[in-house]
Amino acid sequence: MNRRMDEEKRDMPAVGLPLAGKTALVTGAGSGIGRASALELARAGANVCLLDLIGERTEDVEEEIRGMGREAEFYDVDVSDPVRMERAVRAAAERFGSMDVVFANAGINGTLAPIEDLTPESWDETLGINLRGTFLTVKNAVPHMKEKGGSIVVTSSINGNRKFSGFGMSAYSASKAGQVAFAKMAALELARYRIRVNAICPGGIRTNIGENTDSTKQVEKIRIPVEYPEGAHPLEHGPGRPEQVADLVLFLASDRSSHITGTEIYIDGAETLL
Ligand code: NAD
Repeated sequence: MNRRMDEEKRDMPAVGLPLAGKTALVTGAGSGIGRASALELARAGANVCLLDLIGERTEDVEEEIRGMGREAEFYDVDVSDPVRMERAVRAAAERFGSMDVVFANAGINGTLAPIEDLTPESWDETLGINLRGTFLTVKNAVPHMKEKGGSIVVTSSINGNRKFSGFGMSAYSASKAGQVAFAKMAALELARYRIRVNAICPGGIRTNIGENTDSTKQVEKIRIPVEYPEGAHPLEHGPGRPEQVADLVLFLASDRSSHITGTEIYIDGAETLL
């Protein structure tokens, strides 16, 4: 370990931090909201299992967390694949010895198209990663959380919950509404194990999600012009930052939210109240 890493390690002792000694598992940890949250959870004392499809940038997150003096491990996995997910979550639980916080966050916008043009394959891809991926993350984590309890946070969206003007996003919005219903079912079912489950619903956040967005020209056929009186982001006049979402994830992951479960929380700077 080099000197700089040693110094950072001394700078950030975990003792006394809200997640000291805890293990967090984050999906979609290599970019955007997942990356910012993995770093914030580590800053709060957690060791972090990083799940993502894309290696290089997730390895950068892994290195950054290790530089803080926490443990981190990257697992290369597609969240919609039941076999790889079962293996990855089990390996993570064995490696870290416990599972206290789970952030089911990986997601794509997928193909944006009118319903009559959207192929069943595109529908399945979006629902497979966003909704089935959330189910598989929670399903595989529960056996490792049951004994001690913990917190699960699911990244949903304003789309499908408070906003329905994302034209062409019927698959995405259905997956995001499904995640909130699933989180509420899970909150009730898992309360007996003292596992809390909440969903967060971000508005526009500046991330790399554009890489996983395939907007078709047919969307123009169904677009209804929507004009806001004061612009689309009343609070800060622009999209939010992943770090702002990470603050909410940390709150829900920690005991500061010990009586909060089964709810969705909007983080959109009042974008959807217009
Ligand atoms: P992002 O593209 O920056 O990050 C998403 C990460 O998920 C990427 O690292 C990607 O490689 C990973 N991923 C994608 N498919 C995967 C798969 N099959 N298996 C494993 N990993 C996979 O995007 P983001 O904006 O940070 O998105 C995170 C979540 O936030 C998503 O669920 C998204 O729907 C939700 N969200 C984003 C916004 C926004 O404006 N950015 C708004 C509301 C909700």
